Amino acid sequence: MRVLEIASEAVPFAKTGGLADVAGALPDALAGLGCDVSLVMPAYGEVFSKGLPIEPTGIEFEVPIGARAELARILRCRRPGSRADVYLVANDSFYDRPTLYGGSRDYPDNAERYIFFSRAAVELACRLGGRWDILHCHDWQTGLVPAYQKLLYGSHPAVASSRTVMTIHNMAYQGLFWHWDMLLTGLDWRYFNWRQMEFYSQLNLLKTGIVFADSVSTVSPTYAREIQSAPGGCGLEGLLSSRSNVLTGIVNGIDTAIWDPAADPHLPRPYGSDDFDAGKYAARVALAARLGRAAPDSRPLVAFVGRLVEQKGIELVLEVLGHMAGEGRAHFVILGTGGQEYERLLQRAAATFPGTVDLVLGFDEGLAHLVQAAADITLVPSRFEPCGLTQLYAQRYGSIPVVRATGGLVDTVVDATPETLREGTATGFVFEGFDAAGLDSALSRGIEAHADKPVWNSLVRNVMRQDWSWRTSGREYMRLFARAAASPATPVE
Ligand code: ADP
Repeated sequence: MRVLEIASEAVPFAKTGGLADVAGALPDALAGLGCDVSLVMPAYGEVFSKGLPIEPTGIEFEVPIGARAELARILRCRRPGSRADVYLVANDSFYDRPTLYGGSRDYPDNAERYIFFSRAAVELACRLGGRWDILHCHDWQTGLVPAYQKLLYGSHPAVASSRTVMTIHNMAYQGLFWHWDMLLTGLDWRYFNWRQMEFYSQLNLLKTGIVFADSVSTVSPTYAREIQSAPGGCGLEGLLSSRSNVLTGIVNGIDTAIWDPAADPHLPRPYGSDDFDAGKYAARVALAARLGRAAPDSRPLVAFVGRLVEQKGIELVLEVLGHMAGEGRAHFVILGTGGQEYERLLQRAAATFPGTVDLVLGFDEGLAHLVQAAADITLVPSRFEPCGLTQLYAQRYGSIPVVRATGGLVDTVVDATPETLREGTATGFVFEGFDAAGLDSALSRGIEAHADKPVWNSLVRNVMRQDWSWRTSGREYMRLFARAAASPATPVE
């Protein structure tokens, strides 16, 4: 099986969220299962500052963007210990910028940037030669790939018989652009209709991917069901249910080499499920120092690590902070970056409850590891959550997740009840409705359980022993690819 992974971000090259974790780890997981796999992503300015062995390939070609053409220079990175080649598409005017997609507002030429990237990825697949079984696309940035493969490159021997798989990491980001950007795609206007590329007069790149791909997947079985109806489908629920015969959900794995409390360079003292007490205490001492405190707090440490956006349920966190922090029942540590209003409100909470609410605004990978190691409880009260990685990292680091029952959180956290605790299957505390009362009650159950040392310790041991490695998910992707490769291609209407 020869697979080209196509994504707009991947660790260790560039990351804004969970997509980068997945696109960074999946290639090696697939290679470990005998797959011949490469990854292609844009060569953002920041990829050159990471000390990675990036070299020129000598491959370069022009990519038509509407009436003009832009040059794509292809670089390659072969990392020691990795069996997957990473190809980087360089074009400095598109990708040498301070952030990946823009700041508080998206870059105005994001349509061009990813039309260019998608077409360059298919062109590269052709130029690398051989025959690709699967072109695996991730999110709206690669949504044109299935359309290009079918409509423009259908007779090229490298990709003519390829099957395209479109993986959706988040329905809330669809790549919507004004209709004139259709001209930049080089595709015929007749595809700009409500059944293919148009969405209420706009060009929709994720929709394009879902329509033209041979197979569609998303990052958990529950989310695969949720997106087939409103509001989960974000307007594409009808299309997704019409494609339910080729739609599957595969829970993300985690990179157990990067997220391993027993060998994590960001932690002061590595630990496993048998000696977590000492390791987590050392992490708390180190975290206290980072936060400018002399000694760690003796109360349960409740953490939140994530993007400060509406999806993540920040308003529930703020409401619960309002009274729980007032009562002083726990010490809260929040690490995040995102919406200015959320940042302001959290700053206010931190100022109101000094010593009880600690806030770090910014993106800090090392600190994210340290916080998870130090935490007793990690909050993931999302409004919706396609898969969620934070709760999986929390489990591996022995922090018990408190989550809302939505999307991948349903598939990865088993609520602690007297029965599940007795059976040893409990892995967190779950609440149903999106309201502060639900979060409050689940978090209170967690804090109460924390007071019962034997119960808590066996819960921590249990979550640390969960296997969320890519082994299982990688096999599921292999099965999906095999099914797609053996099925007829989706006909173009
Ligand atoms: P999403 O992809 O929606 O952002 P996930 O839970 O799938 O959510 O993945 C989030 C990833 O981003 C995790 O690896 C998490 O540790 C990381 N992350 C989020 N915010 C920060 C931050 N401020 N600093 C460091 N890492 C962060």
